[in-house]
Amino acid sequence: MTKNLIFAADIGGTTCKLGIFDQNLKRLKNWAIKTDTSDPTGRQLLKGVYNAFIAECDMLNYKLEDVIGMGIGVPGPVDFEAGVVNGAVNLNWQSKVNVKALMEEMVEFPVIVDNDANIAALGEKHLGAGQDANDVVAITLGTGVGGGIISNGKIVHGHNGSGAELGHIRVDHEQHFDCNCGKAGCIETVASATGVVNLVYHYHPKLTIQSQLRPMISSKEITAKDVFDAAKSGDIFSLFIVEKIAQYIGYLASILSVTTNPKYIILGGGMADAGHILLENVKTAYSQFAFTPSQENTEIVLALLGNEAGIVGAAGLIKTYIIEQE
Ligand SMILES: [Zn+2]
Repeated sequence: MTKNLIFAADIGGTTCKLGIFDQNLKRLKNWAIKTDTSDPTGRQLLKGVYNAFIAECDMLNYKLEDVIGMGIGVPGPVDFEAGVVNGAVNLNWQSKVNVKALMEEMVEFPVIVDNDANIAALGEKHLGAGQDANDVVAITLGTGVGGGIISNGKIVHGHNGSGAELGHIRVDHEQHFDCNCGKAGCIETVASATGVVNLVYHYHPKLTIQSQLRPMISSKEITAKDVFDAAKSGDIFSLFIVEKIAQYIGYLASILSVTTNPKYIILGGGMADAGHILLENVKTAYSQFAFTPSQENTEIVLALLGNEAGIVGAAGLIKTYIIEQE
């Protein structure tokens, strides 16, 4: 192949991370621009991304004829085949934006678009914790819970693009907390950063032991990080909460392990920064829940790429869907 460059854009609510990679996903250039949310049609934002690539290529003496394709990640639901984003609140896109068509008006090479959770999973599959595996699941534990499933090397999109919306699997069957999706008991309500706080307020009235969290609970300033930090220092109530969270995540992991039999189940997002205390508790819960044959050689691991998973995965779209198809 003579063409050897990949353009990648990970579009977020405040910044667009941009990258130029070679055909083996080696990163040649890495920078960011401010996200232009002034235009609800998306045209301005995408024009800004295009201009940034043109300027950078001029500077680096890269030729547009050498570009294999551009991968784009967006924070909203995507029709993968069409490259259409069905609205993105953080970008001020209230209705459909055909990202693929708008970008392809400006460039000669193909453009592939997917949502941020899916590209993060693909990034971990290519260069992160899921390297050398074709079957990988990533669970992103942030303000909400997201996910991506890579099956047989490809992202699972499902018939209307809502495949792998892992945050809305009901794990709390008693449905203590309402979810943004309109239902209740979704894993997002009990195992996201906000979910941790939900659990703290639910269980603390029953608290009979001393806990170092008490002052933060009373002042309503408690965060998920406080809970994990206290658990690490041996606080019994915090350990109880961490075990609860781990049970929910372990239960989700057991469902995923039976449905897709991944080589790796990768825990990422801000909450995964808690590290081994979360990982070990999830592993324990998972081993209790999961069907034994599907557990064999499946590893639960922490994500490796952090915030870089998205940009790597955006480039990974071109690697997976164009280069590896040839
Ligand atoms: Zn939900």
